[in-house]
Amino acid sequence: MMTLVAMTMVVFSGGVWGAAFPTVSIVLRYDDYAATSSTALEQRLFTAFAAQRVPVLVAVVPFPGRAYPQSVTDLTPIAPDLSEEKVTLLKALLRSGIGEIGLHGYSHRNNGSAGDVVTEFAGLPFERQRQFLLLGRRALESTLDAPVRVFTPPFNAFDAKTVRALRETGFSVLSAGTTPAQEAGPLRLLPGTVYPQGLRAAVARARQLKEPALVVVVMHPYDFVDSGEAMPGFRTRYRDQMKVQTFLDDV
Ligand SMILES: [Zn+2]
Repeated sequence: MMTLVAMTMVVFSGGVWGAAFPTVSIVLRYDDYAATSSTALEQRLFTAFAAQRVPVLVAVVPFPGRAYPQSVTDLTPIAPDLSEEKVTLLKALLRSGIGEIGLHGYSHRNNGSAGDVVTEFAGLPFERQRQFLLLGRRALESTLDAPVRVFTPPFNAFDAKTVRALRETGFSVLSAGTTPAQEAGPLRLLPGTVYPQGLRAAVARARQLKEPALVVVVMHPYDFVDSGEAMPGFRTRYRDQMKVQTFLDDV
């Protein structure tokens, strides 16, 4: 496994006086890689990351918009809704040695169980969540010929059943938001902490801390003006889109 330690990028450690300065580790996470996300944007980002040897976790939606299987016990394999171009791009990223593929939900739809709060997994029965994890992971692993160990719940929404289903299906890492997970057991937690617009400020703050810090940058296509997408209404902070080049300069 390309471990999370290997995925981190040390931006500063050590000092001229021999004092051990705390390390700031940065993880880049790209959400919503799907059939309809901007391939041009993704090519640009991944090519730049590969050239600079910057690791990235790509969270892929396997079946965007698709209806649930009728039976909760149906584990018949389903091919992911990814074009050949999308698959080729992910395979190139894996070959470059800087990519880790994560599962980003099942269909990325709101299951409607939580009123105004949008969620795909949280609120569903355990068996349904377990089914989604197994079908989604199998779809990506068989198509990409690579292990999928990280789960990123759509809308960062998960519950205790999600955590149990992840443990029981052998996932290693849960990367959501900063909501704590109870009884995570051997699951490692990788909380998203900042949007790309806030990377520079987050690193500056982290470098002032007296202890090691982790900055997990959660990117979506709509964070970048180059994607052609609009910033969604639910986003409350960092609503200004940025240029890809500005972000790459920050990285
Ligand atoms: Zn998403």
